[in-house]
Amino acid sequence: MTAATAPPTPSVGTTLDDTSVDTRAVHAGREDLAALGVHVPPIDLSTTNPLPSVEAGGAAYELLATGGTLPPGDSAVYQRLWNPTVARFEAALATLEGTPAAVAFASGMAALTAALLAATRDGRRHVVAVRPLYGGTDHVLATGLLGTEVSWARPDEVAAAVRADTGLVVVETPANPTLDLVDIAALAAAVGDVPLLVDNTVATPVLQQPARHGAALVLHSATKSIGGHGDVLAGVVACDADWAARLRQVRAVTGAVLHPLGAYLLHRGLQTLPLRVRAQQAGAEKLALRLAGHPAVARVHHPSVHDPAGLVGRQLAGTGSLLAVEVRGGAPAAARVAGACRLITHAVSLGGVDTLIQHPASLTHRPVAGEARPGDGLLRISVGLEDPEDLWTDLARALAAG
Ligand SMILES: *Cc1c(COP(=O)(O)O)cnc(C)c1O
Repeated sequence: MTAATAPPTPSVGTTLDDTSVDTRAVHAGREDLAALGVHVPPIDLSTTNPLPSVEAGGAAYELLATGGTLPPGDSAVYQRLWNPTVARFEAALATLEGTPAAVAFASGMAALTAALLAATRDGRRHVVAVRPLYGGTDHVLATGLLGTEVSWARPDEVAAAVRADTGLVVVETPANPTLDLVDIAALAAAVGDVPLLVDNTVATPVLQQPARHGAALVLHSATKSIGGHGDVLAGVVACDADWAARLRQVRAVTGAVLHPLGAYLLHRGLQTLPLRVRAQQAGAEKLALRLAGHPAVARVHHPSVHDPAGLVGRQLAGTGSLLAVEVRGGAPAAARVAGACRLITHAVSLGGVDTLIQHPASLTHRPVAGEARPGDGLLRISVGLEDPEDLWTDLARALAAG
């Protein structure tokens, strides 16, 4: 494999060392703009690039198709191999996650697919996974569609489930949709040399940086909070340079690339990510408290009300904008509540500026095996930036209809 070189766009820029996540969110991946004479990143839409010579083109192709990065001044050859606008977003995201590199994909599931393919090569096709997971992740592992074999384990059973041919351990914390929390550092210590992938979609790098706790791979569905406005489908994996090279090789060969316009929007989304996450979280905490006292609600799932291992403040810098409620009356009541919301949109996805409600057992977690599927009365609510009082008015009216 070609040795990975540093990304050409500055990643962990010297001027951003020791700055807070708010400052990094605004400036990361933009360190060279002033020298270019521009204030916002240029968008490069070229699908092909002029080649200085047959030899130079061939050398660049070889380097990029085997996971290397583009040396300054070289031809990018073809957009499936390299795109500078995408590389800029990757550098910015890596800065927020505190990792040397990041690799972006066409969706969160494309990112997970690449991580599974990269980690389970060379006869290590076994994966240990902790439920609950996003329904799509559960589905791809349970079906073995990518040639993997899965063992499901609780966090304290993971070390015992690891085998000689285990290529990856997969966990999601906070988990979608029940907001279960897992101690990442404890899990990383328990699995030793086996790489740990943490899906950090729900927390975002504003609240949690799993690589600092020992995760080798940090995955995001960037479709959610990072984009934040419901208009980009994307995924990204933050990791070290070696993993990045392996992931870029899979991406170049299989083609699940992120479009540069999407990368531009995600990079812009990062600038307001800390503000959005904290404001949405404040709304979620208010709603969680009120929902817990509502007679139609049997249980509220949110790190503000359920954190048995004391991870908020230690691993998670906040409780986040996603919550779930178990309504009394099971699936029929849950369906009536989702259908009765007016201001809140009945739709899948999460992390955006507007509040969404959905029924995981029927939708996002439909493919999950019966014993692991979320409860029939569970509704997931992704809290947006609306005034929490208006959201409460809508929810209280909808709960009365349940
Ligand atoms: C949505 C989601 C995914 C899948 O991402 P897509 O961008 O929809 O492919 C993976 N993990 C979590 C936690 C998600 O919420």
